[in-house]
Amino acid sequence: MKKRNIAILGATGSIGTQALDVVRTFPELLEVSVLTAASNAELLIKQALEFKPRAVVILQDEGYPKVKDALEGSGILVLSGGTALEEVVQYEEIDVVLNAIVGSAGLRPTVKAIQSGKDIALANKETLVVAGQLIMDLVQQHQVAMLPVDSEHSAIFQCLAGEGENPIEKIYLTASGGPFRGKDRAFLTHVTKQQALKHPNWVMGAKITIDSASLMNKGLEVIEAKWLFGLEPDQIDVIVHPQSIVHSMVQFKDGSMKAQMGLPDMKLPIQHALTYPCRQENSFERFNFLNYPSLTFEPADTHTFRNLDLAYRALNDGGDRPCVLNAANEIAVSAFLEEKISFLAMSELIEATMCQLKLVETPTLDDLLAIDQESRIVARDLMNKM
Ligand code: NDP
Ligand code: MG
Repeated sequence: MKKRNIAILGATGSIGTQALDVVRTFPELLEVSVLTAASNAELLIKQALEFKPRAVVILQDEGYPKVKDALEGSGILVLSGGTALEEVVQYEEIDVVLNAIVGSAGLRPTVKAIQSGKDIALANKETLVVAGQLIMDLVQQHQVAMLPVDSEHSAIFQCLAGEGENPIEKIYLTASGGPFRGKDRAFLTHVTKQQALKHPNWVMGAKITIDSASLMNKGLEVIEAKWLFGLEPDQIDVIVHPQSIVHSMVQFKDGSMKAQMGLPDMKLPIQHALTYPCRQENSFERFNFLNYPSLTFEPADTHTFRNLDLAYRALNDGGDRPCVLNAANEIAVSAFLEEKISFLAMSELIEATMCQLKLVETPTLDDLLAIDQESRIVARDLMNKM
Protein backbone atom coordinates (compact mmCIF):
# COMPACT_ATOMS: atom_id res chain seq x y z
CA MET A 1 0.00 0.00 0.00
CA LYS A 2 1.25 3.47 -0.95
CA LYS A 3 1.46 5.99 1.88
CA ARG A 4 -1.80 7.96 2.28
CA ASN A 5 -2.26 11.50 3.31
CA ILE A 6 -5.34 12.16 5.40
CA ALA A 7 -7.37 15.05 6.75
CA ILE A 8 -9.21 14.33 10.00
CA LEU A 9 -12.23 16.56 10.54
CA GLY A 10 -13.32 16.30 14.17
CA ALA A 11 -9.91 15.04 15.32
CA THR A 12 -10.59 15.76 19.01
CA GLY A 13 -13.72 13.58 19.21
CA SER A 14 -14.26 9.91 19.90
CA ILE A 15 -13.74 8.81 16.27
CA GLY A 16 -11.03 11.42 15.64
CA THR A 17 -8.86 10.33 18.57
CA GLN A 18 -9.28 6.65 17.66
CA ALA A 19 -8.33 7.49 14.07
CA LEU A 20 -5.12 9.02 15.40
CA ASP A 21 -4.48 5.76 17.29
CA VAL A 22 -4.74 4.00 13.93
CA VAL A 23 -2.30 6.53 12.41
CA ARG A 24 0.10 5.83 15.31
CA THR A 25 -0.17 2.12 14.51
CA PHE A 26 0.77 2.65 10.84
CA PRO A 27 3.16 5.60 10.67
CA GLU A 28 4.71 4.23 7.49
CA LEU A 29 1.30 4.10 5.73
CA LEU A 30 -0.68 7.07 7.06
CA GLU A 31 0.30 10.70 7.29
CA VAL A 32 -1.83 13.55 8.61
CA SER A 33 -2.16 16.77 6.68
CA VAL A 34 -5.08 18.42 8.47
CA LEU A 35 -6.61 18.19 11.95
CA THR A 36 -9.72 20.10 13.04
CA ALA A 37 -11.72 20.73 16.23
CA ALA A 38 -14.69 22.86 17.21
CA SER A 39 -13.51 24.23 20.56
CA ASN A 40 -11.07 21.82 22.22
CA ALA A 41 -7.96 23.95 21.69
CA GLU A 42 -5.83 22.10 24.23
CA LEU A 43 -6.19 18.67 22.64
CA LEU A 44 -5.87 20.07 19.13
CA ILE A 45 -2.54 21.68 20.09
CA LYS A 46 -1.27 18.42 21.58
CA GLN A 47 -2.28 16.49 18.47
CA ALA A 48 -0.72 19.09 16.18
CA LEU A 49 2.61 18.97 18.03
CA GLU A 50 2.64 15.16 17.76
CA PHE A 51 1.45 14.71 14.17
CA LYS A 52 2.83 17.91 12.59
CA PRO A 53 0.06 18.47 10.03
CA ARG A 54 0.25 21.19 7.41
CA ALA A 55 -2.76 22.96 8.96
CA VAL A 56 -5.16 22.85 11.88
CA VAL A 57 -8.61 24.41 12.07
CA ILE A 58 -10.22 25.52 15.30
CA LEU A 59 -13.80 26.27 14.35
CA GLN A 60 -14.68 28.70 17.13
CA ASP A 61 -12.85 32.02 17.00
CA GLU A 62 -12.33 32.16 20.79
CA GLY A 63 -9.93 29.22 20.63
CA TYR A 64 -7.88 30.69 17.80
CA PRO A 65 -5.38 32.87 19.79
CA LYS A 66 -4.52 29.98 22.11
CA VAL A 67 -3.84 27.55 19.24
CA LYS A 68 -2.00 30.22 17.25
CA ASP A 69 0.28 31.05 20.20
CA ALA A 70 1.00 27.44 21.06
CA LEU A 71 1.94 26.54 17.48
CA GLU A 72 3.99 29.70 16.82
CA GLY A 73 7.22 28.77 15.07
CA SER A 74 6.08 25.19 14.36
CA GLY A 75 5.37 25.93 10.71
CA ILE A 76 1.79 24.65 11.16
CA LEU A 77 -0.86 26.90 9.66
CA VAL A 78 -3.64 27.77 12.12
CA LEU A 79 -7.07 28.64 10.75
CA SER A 80 -10.48 29.28 12.23
CA GLY A 81 -14.11 29.44 11.10
CA GLY A 82 -16.45 27.26 9.03
CA THR A 83 -15.11 28.22 5.61
CA ALA A 84 -11.62 27.12 6.70
CA LEU A 85 -12.95 23.54 6.89
CA GLU A 86 -14.05 23.77 3.27
CA GLU A 87 -10.67 25.21 2.28
CA VAL A 88 -8.37 22.69 3.97
CA VAL A 89 -10.09 19.58 2.59
CA GLN A 90 -9.01 20.73 -0.87
CA TYR A 91 -5.24 20.58 -0.22
CA GLU A 92 -3.61 18.84 -3.11
CA GLU A 93 -1.65 16.25 -1.11
CA ILE A 94 -4.75 14.87 0.66
CA ASP A 95 -5.91 11.42 -0.50
CA VAL A 96 -8.66 10.72 2.04
CA VAL A 97 -10.84 13.00 4.15
CA LEU A 98 -12.07 11.31 7.32
CA ASN A 99 -15.19 13.17 8.33
CA ALA A 100 -15.70 12.63 12.08
CA ILE A 101 -17.60 15.84 12.75
CA VAL A 102 -20.87 15.42 14.62
CA GLY A 103 -24.15 16.61 13.07
CA SER A 104 -25.19 18.22 9.82
CA ALA A 105 -22.23 20.63 10.18
CA GLY A 106 -20.32 17.85 8.41
CA LEU A 107 -22.25 18.25 5.17
CA ARG A 108 -20.47 21.20 3.51
CA PRO A 109 -16.93 19.92 4.12
CA THR A 110 -17.95 16.52 2.67
CA VAL A 111 -19.31 18.21 -0.45
CA LYS A 112 -16.12 20.27 -0.94
CA ALA A 113 -13.91 17.24 -0.39
CA ILE A 114 -15.80 15.19 -2.99
CA GLN A 115 -15.74 18.08 -5.45
CA SER A 116 -11.98 18.27 -5.13
CA GLY A 117 -11.64 14.56 -5.87
CA LYS A 118 -10.86 13.25 -2.38
CA ASP A 119 -11.91 9.82 -1.19
CA ILE A 120 -14.20 10.05 1.84
CA ALA A 121 -13.99 7.95 4.99
CA LEU A 122 -17.40 8.74 6.44
CA ALA A 123 -18.22 8.60 10.13
CA ASN A 124 -20.47 11.66 9.90
CA LYS A 125 -23.66 9.76 9.02
CA GLU A 126 -25.66 13.00 9.16
CA THR A 127 -24.08 13.96 5.80
CA LEU A 128 -25.97 11.10 4.11
CA VAL A 129 -29.12 11.51 6.20
CA VAL A 130 -29.48 15.14 5.17
CA ALA A 131 -28.40 14.91 1.52
CA GLY A 132 -27.98 11.24 0.57
CA GLN A 133 -29.10 11.50 -3.03
CA LEU A 134 -27.04 14.61 -3.79
CA ILE A 135 -23.93 13.22 -2.08
CA MET A 136 -24.09 9.88 -3.91
CA ASP A 137 -24.60 11.73 -7.21
CA LEU A 138 -21.48 13.78 -6.48
CA VAL A 139 -19.53 10.64 -5.57
CA GLN A 140 -20.50 9.18 -8.93
CA GLN A 141 -19.74 12.38 -10.83
CA HIS A 142 -16.29 12.86 -9.27
CA GLN A 143 -15.42 9.14 -9.19
CA VAL A 144 -14.30 9.14 -5.57
CA ALA A 145 -14.65 6.35 -3.02
CA MET A 146 -17.19 6.61 -0.21
CA LEU A 147 -15.80 4.38 2.55
CA PRO A 148 -18.09 3.76 5.52
CA VAL A 149 -16.66 4.09 9.03
CA ASP A 150 -19.91 3.45 10.90
CA SER A 151 -19.39 -0.13 12.14
CA GLU A 152 -22.65 -1.52 10.70
CA HIS A 153 -22.02 -0.02 7.27
CA SER A 154 -18.39 -1.08 7.31
CA ALA A 155 -19.70 -4.59 8.06
CA ILE A 156 -22.09 -4.52 5.08
CA PHE A 157 -19.35 -3.06 2.87
CA GLN A 158 -17.02 -5.89 3.90
CA CYS A 159 -19.73 -8.54 3.32
CA LEU A 160 -20.20 -7.20 -0.22
CA ALA A 161 -16.52 -7.52 -1.13
CA GLY A 162 -16.16 -9.89 -4.07
CA GLU A 163 -19.92 -10.08 -4.72
CA GLY A 164 -19.82 -7.93 -7.88
CA GLU A 165 -23.33 -7.27 -9.14
CA ASN A 166 -24.94 -10.07 -7.07
CA PRO A 167 -28.25 -8.64 -5.89
CA ILE A 168 -28.91 -8.03 -2.21
CA GLU A 169 -32.24 -9.31 -0.91
CA LYS A 170 -31.99 -7.65 2.48
CA ILE A 171 -29.56 -6.27 4.97
CA TYR A 172 -29.82 -6.54 8.75
CA LEU A 173 -28.38 -3.68 10.75
CA THR A 174 -27.61 -4.80 14.28
CA ALA A 175 -28.36 -2.55 17.25
CA SER A 176 -27.12 -3.05 20.80
CA GLY A 177 -30.42 -1.78 22.16
CA GLY A 178 -28.58 0.80 24.28
CA PRO A 179 -28.81 1.29 28.03
CA PHE A 180 -32.63 1.12 28.11
CA ARG A 181 -33.16 -2.14 26.24
CA GLY A 182 -36.11 -4.03 27.71
CA LYS A 183 -37.48 -0.96 29.52
CA ASP A 184 -41.00 0.39 28.95
CA ARG A 185 -42.32 3.93 28.48
CA ALA A 186 -43.22 4.25 32.15
CA PHE A 187 -39.57 3.64 33.05
CA LEU A 188 -38.34 6.07 30.38
CA THR A 189 -40.49 8.92 31.64
CA HIS A 190 -37.96 9.90 34.29
CA VAL A 191 -34.59 8.70 32.97
CA THR A 192 -31.73 11.17 33.38
CA LYS A 193 -29.02 12.19 30.97
CA GLN A 194 -26.45 10.38 33.15
CA GLN A 195 -28.38 7.13 32.68
CA ALA A 196 -28.76 7.73 28.94
CA LEU A 197 -25.04 8.48 28.54
CA LYS A 198 -24.05 5.03 29.88
CA HIS A 199 -23.81 2.91 26.75
CA PRO A 200 -23.30 -0.80 27.49
CA ASN A 201 -20.79 -1.58 24.70
CA TRP A 202 -19.33 1.55 23.10
CA VAL A 203 -17.68 4.72 24.39
CA MET A 204 -18.71 7.49 21.99
CA GLY A 205 -19.46 11.22 21.76
CA ALA A 206 -22.48 12.48 23.72
CA LYS A 207 -24.80 13.03 20.74
CA ILE A 208 -24.48 9.55 19.25
CA THR A 209 -24.71 8.00 22.73
CA ILE A 210 -28.10 9.65 23.28
CA ASP A 211 -29.10 8.64 19.72
CA SER A 212 -28.19 5.06 20.62
CA ALA A 213 -30.29 5.16 23.78
CA SER A 214 -33.31 6.50 21.84
CA LEU A 215 -32.79 4.22 18.77
CA MET A 216 -32.49 7.33 16.58
CA ASN A 217 -28.94 6.25 15.82
CA LYS A 218 -30.32 3.13 14.17
CA GLY A 219 -32.90 5.22 12.32
CA LEU A 220 -30.16 7.47 10.96
CA GLU A 221 -28.19 4.35 10.03
CA VAL A 222 -31.14 2.91 8.07
CA ILE A 223 -31.15 6.10 5.99
CA GLU A 224 -27.34 6.03 5.68
CA ALA A 225 -27.53 2.41 4.45
CA LYS A 226 -30.14 3.24 1.82
CA TRP A 227 -27.77 5.69 0.15
CA LEU A 228 -24.53 3.79 0.60
CA PHE A 229 -25.87 0.53 -0.81
CA GLY A 230 -28.70 1.70 -3.09
CA LEU A 231 -31.48 -0.13 -1.22
CA GLU A 232 -35.21 0.34 -0.78
CA PRO A 233 -36.44 0.95 2.79
CA ASP A 234 -38.10 -2.48 2.95
CA GLN A 235 -34.76 -4.13 2.19
CA ILE A 236 -33.29 -2.74 5.42
CA ASP A 237 -34.13 -4.47 8.70
CA VAL A 238 -32.98 -3.70 12.21
CA ILE A 239 -32.31 -6.43 14.72
CA VAL A 240 -31.25 -5.98 18.33
CA HIS A 241 -28.08 -7.87 19.22
CA PRO A 242 -27.00 -6.85 22.73
CA GLN A 243 -23.44 -8.23 22.53
CA SER A 244 -22.45 -6.02 19.54
CA ILE A 245 -20.28 -8.77 18.04
CA VAL A 246 -22.13 -9.29 14.75
CA HIS A 247 -21.77 -5.83 13.25
CA SER A 248 -24.37 -6.39 10.50
CA MET A 249 -25.45 -8.91 7.87
CA VAL A 250 -26.28 -9.19 4.18
CA GLN A 251 -28.78 -11.68 2.79
CA PHE A 252 -28.39 -12.37 -0.93
CA LYS A 253 -31.06 -13.41 -3.44
CA ASP A 254 -30.21 -17.10 -2.98
CA GLY A 255 -30.96 -16.83 0.77
CA SER A 256 -27.29 -17.07 1.73
CA MET A 257 -26.24 -14.71 4.47
CA LYS A 258 -22.92 -13.10 5.31
CA ALA A 259 -22.11 -11.42 8.61
CA GLN A 260 -19.06 -9.45 9.68
CA MET A 261 -17.97 -9.95 13.29
CA GLY A 262 -15.45 -8.64 15.74
CA LEU A 263 -15.10 -6.99 19.13
CA PRO A 264 -16.88 -3.65 19.47
CA ASP A 265 -13.84 -1.48 18.70
CA MET A 266 -14.19 1.44 16.26
CA LYS A 267 -10.48 1.26 15.42
CA LEU A 268 -11.28 -1.71 13.17
CA PRO A 269 -13.74 0.03 10.82
CA ILE A 270 -11.60 3.19 10.93
CA GLN A 271 -8.52 1.21 9.90
CA HIS A 272 -10.51 -0.59 7.20
CA ALA A 273 -11.60 2.70 5.66
CA LEU A 274 -8.18 4.36 5.88
CA THR A 275 -6.23 1.42 4.44
CA TYR A 276 -8.90 0.07 2.05
CA PRO A 277 -8.66 -2.30 0.22
CA CYS A 278 -5.58 -3.63 2.05
CA ARG A 279 -5.91 -5.43 5.36
CA GLN A 280 -2.91 -4.48 7.47
CA GLU A 281 -1.70 -6.52 10.42
CA ASN A 282 -2.32 -4.96 13.83
CA SER A 283 -2.14 -6.07 17.44
CA PHE A 284 -5.66 -5.00 18.48
CA GLU A 285 -7.38 -7.50 20.78
CA ARG A 286 -8.87 -10.52 18.96
CA PHE A 287 -12.43 -11.79 19.33
CA ASN A 288 -12.75 -15.16 21.09
CA PHE A 289 -15.99 -17.13 20.60
CA LEU A 290 -15.52 -18.89 23.92
CA ASN A 291 -15.83 -15.57 25.74
CA TYR A 292 -19.21 -15.10 24.04
CA PRO A 293 -20.90 -18.52 24.20
CA SER A 294 -24.24 -16.97 23.41
CA LEU A 295 -24.93 -14.36 20.77
CA THR A 296 -28.58 -13.31 20.97
CA PHE A 297 -31.02 -11.49 18.71
CA GLU A 298 -34.41 -9.89 19.34
CA PRO A 299 -36.77 -7.48 17.56
CA ALA A 300 -36.47 -3.73 18.12
CA ASP A 301 -39.16 -2.32 20.41
CA THR A 302 -40.52 0.47 18.23
CA HIS A 303 -43.51 1.03 20.51
CA THR A 304 -41.22 2.21 23.32
CA PHE A 305 -38.54 3.74 21.11
CA ARG A 306 -40.50 5.68 18.50
CA ASN A 307 -37.55 7.28 16.74
CA LEU A 308 -36.84 4.26 14.59
CA ASP A 309 -40.33 4.43 13.05
CA LEU A 310 -40.00 8.18 12.58
CA ALA A 311 -36.80 7.60 10.60
CA TYR A 312 -38.49 4.97 8.39
CA ARG A 313 -41.36 7.40 7.87
CA ALA A 314 -38.93 10.15 6.82
CA LEU A 315 -37.17 7.76 4.46
CA ASN A 316 -40.43 6.58 2.87
CA ASP A 317 -41.74 10.13 2.47
CA GLY A 318 -38.42 11.11 0.87
CA GLY A 319 -37.39 14.58 -0.30
CA ASP A 320 -36.34 16.82 2.56
CA ARG A 321 -37.95 14.68 5.31
CA PRO A 322 -34.72 13.04 6.56
CA CYS A 323 -33.12 16.51 6.72
CA VAL A 324 -35.99 17.78 8.89
CA LEU A 325 -35.85 14.64 11.07
CA ASN A 326 -32.12 15.10 11.58
CA ALA A 327 -32.27 18.81 12.41
CA ALA A 328 -35.14 18.31 14.87
CA ASN A 329 -33.23 15.44 16.44
CA GLU A 330 -30.09 17.57 16.88
CA ILE A 331 -32.18 20.19 18.70
CA ALA A 332 -33.96 17.51 20.77
CA VAL A 333 -30.70 15.83 21.82
CA SER A 334 -29.05 19.13 22.83
CA ALA A 335 -32.16 20.07 24.80
CA PHE A 336 -32.18 16.69 26.56
CA LEU A 337 -28.47 17.06 27.36
CA GLU A 338 -29.17 20.53 28.77
CA GLU A 339 -31.97 18.95 30.82
CA LYS A 340 -34.62 21.13 29.16
CA ILE A 341 -36.78 18.25 27.90
CA SER A 342 -37.39 14.67 28.97
CA PHE A 343 -36.14 11.57 27.19
CA LEU A 344 -39.54 10.72 25.73
CA ALA A 345 -40.19 14.33 24.68
CA MET A 346 -37.40 14.00 22.11
CA SER A 347 -39.61 11.85 19.81
CA GLU A 348 -42.58 14.17 20.32
CA LEU A 349 -40.51 17.18 19.33
CA ILE A 350 -39.14 15.47 16.22
CA GLU A 351 -42.58 14.31 15.10
CA ALA A 352 -44.14 17.72 15.72
CA THR A 353 -41.38 19.44 13.70
CA MET A 354 -41.90 17.02 10.80
CA CYS A 355 -45.65 17.71 10.86
CA GLN A 356 -45.17 21.46 10.90
CA LEU A 357 -42.99 21.70 7.77
CA LYS A 358 -44.31 21.00 4.27
CA LEU A 359 -42.60 18.33 2.19
CA VAL A 360 -40.07 19.57 -0.38
CA GLU A 361 -39.76 16.75 -2.88
CA THR A 362 -36.56 17.50 -4.75
CA PRO A 363 -34.47 19.92 -2.71
CA THR A 364 -31.13 21.25 -3.94
CA LEU A 365 -28.12 21.43 -1.64
CA ASP A 366 -28.85 25.08 -0.87
CA ASP A 367 -32.50 24.18 -0.16
CA LEU A 368 -31.36 21.50 2.29
CA LEU A 369 -29.00 23.86 4.09
CA ALA A 370 -31.88 26.34 4.45
CA ILE A 371 -34.35 23.61 5.52
CA ASP A 372 -31.85 22.40 8.13
CA GLN A 373 -31.80 25.90 9.64
CA GLU A 374 -35.55 26.39 9.37
CA SER A 375 -36.26 23.04 11.02
CA ARG A 376 -34.04 24.02 13.95
CA ILE A 377 -35.98 27.25 14.41
CA VAL A 378 -39.32 25.39 14.27
CA ALA A 379 -38.08 22.72 16.69
CA ARG A 380 -36.80 25.33 19.17
CA ASP A 381 -40.06 27.20 18.92
CA LEU A 382 -42.12 24.04 19.53
CA MET A 383 -39.88 23.12 22.43
CA ASN A 384 -40.49 26.46 24.12
CA LYS A 385 -44.22 25.76 23.93
CA MET A 386 -43.93 22.24 25.38
P1 NDP B 1 -17.65 13.62 19.27
O1 NDP B 1 -18.64 14.55 19.85
O2 NDP B 1 -16.83 12.77 20.20
O3 NDP B 1 -16.62 14.44 18.36
C1 NDP B 1 -17.06 15.38 17.42
C2 NDP B 1 -15.87 16.08 16.77
O4 NDP B 1 -16.36 17.09 15.88
C3 NDP B 1 -14.98 16.81 17.77
O5 NDP B 1 -13.67 16.90 17.24
C4 NDP B 1 -15.62 18.21 17.83
O6 NDP B 1 -14.69 19.21 18.26
C5 NDP B 1 -16.00 18.40 16.37
N1 NDP B 1 -17.20 19.23 16.18
C6 NDP B 1 -18.29 19.31 16.99
N2 NDP B 1 -19.21 20.14 16.46
C7 NDP B 1 -18.67 20.61 15.31
C8 NDP B 1 -19.13 21.54 14.32
N3 NDP B 1 -20.32 22.14 14.42
N4 NDP B 1 -18.34 21.78 13.27
C9 NDP B 1 -17.12 21.21 13.16
N5 NDP B 1 -16.63 20.32 14.06
C10 NDP B 1 -17.40 20.03 15.12
O7 NDP B 1 -18.42 12.73 18.22
P2 NDP B 1 -18.10 11.23 17.75
O8 NDP B 1 -16.67 11.08 17.44
O9 NDP B 1 -18.73 10.28 18.68
O10 NDP B 1 -18.96 11.15 16.41
C11 NDP B 1 -18.57 11.81 15.23
C12 NDP B 1 -19.43 11.30 14.08
O11 NDP B 1 -19.16 9.91 13.90
C13 NDP B 1 -20.94 11.42 14.35
O12 NDP B 1 -21.59 11.69 13.14
C14 NDP B 1 -21.31 10.03 14.83
O13 NDP B 1 -22.65 9.71 14.56
C15 NDP B 1 -20.36 9.17 14.01
N6 NDP B 1 -20.05 7.87 14.60
C16 NDP B 1 -19.43 7.81 15.82
C17 NDP B 1 -19.13 6.59 16.40
C18 NDP B 1 -18.39 6.50 17.69
O14 NDP B 1 -18.05 5.40 18.12
N7 NDP B 1 -18.10 7.59 18.37
C19 NDP B 1 -19.53 5.32 15.75
C20 NDP B 1 -20.13 5.51 14.45
C21 NDP B 1 -20.39 6.74 13.91
P3 NDP B 1 -14.52 19.54 19.85
O15 NDP B 1 -13.87 18.34 20.46
O16 NDP B 1 -13.65 20.72 19.87
O17 NDP B 1 -15.89 19.78 20.38
MG1 MG C 1 -23.12 2.51 14.02
